Amino acid sequence: MNSPRVYQTEAIVLKRIKLGEADRILTLYTPNLGKIRAVAKGSRRTTSKLGGHVELLTHSQLMLARGRNLDIVTQAQTIDNFLALKDNLDKLSFGLYISELVDSFTPDHVDDRRLFNLLLDTLQQLSQDKDASSILRYFELRLLDYLGYRPQLRQCANCGSAIEPAVNSFSSRYGGVLCQDCSYHEPTARSLSLNALKVMRLWQNCNYATALRVRIDPKLASELEKVMREYIKFLLEKQLKSTEWLDKLKHDSSLQQRGNASTENRQQM
Ligand SMILES: [Zn+2]
Repeated sequence: MNSPRVYQTEAIVLKRIKLGEADRILTLYTPNLGKIRAVAKGSRRTTSKLGGHVELLTHSQLMLARGRNLDIVTQAQTIDNFLALKDNLDKLSFGLYISELVDSFTPDHVDDRRLFNLLLDTLQQLSQDKDASSILRYFELRLLDYLGYRPQLRQCANCGSAIEPAVNSFSSRYGGVLCQDCSYHEPTARSLSLNALKVMRLWQNCNYATALRVRIDPKLASELEKVMREYIKFLLEKQLKSTEWLDKLKHDSSLQQRGNASTENRQQM
């Protein structure tokens, strides 16, 4: 059976790269086709009808035509452009981070509607003035869960014994929490407070509304960020590009107050 020459899909734009004079190659995450790449012809021209509908982190309805190598976007209509997210440099950096995570972890053409919904929910949550740090950590845990990297947090990830309600450790190599005995023999494990363990266990099994009801103080937020970042870096065997930017923004914000993202900054993305 031949697949149809044109098809429609919802998509979130994860990445864009320039192609030739006026075109772009888009990396898209879709509900039923997973991650796909497609060409948006002429989208860099100011007169392009596609232009605004295929911007980064935009949720759109697309019409595509099968191409010899890459499919071609023939029509696009924005469903949600997440302007609140794009107009704020911090939120934009969070949005780019989650899109880079999805792009880095997913193979092409493997559909996962849960992941699509998670990505969409997360962009919506980030657009509002909620605790971004909790949103990002919750997103990371759910993403890893869907992709088969759910960290083992109930028993020791090495020996399987019960975890004492005390300071234990998290090992990226073992993919979970280690009991105190095993922690002692695993020098690469980092210490994990009881509160951090409790929050991670909860977030593995709850929805966004519940996740964001937990009060996280800055020290705990920082611990959770370090644990998750180390684990993700271990899994991807690389540091994500966008984390450098996240760190720079965090550093800058401790030095000075910033206004909204200027158009110039956004152009560089
Ligand atoms: Zn153990």
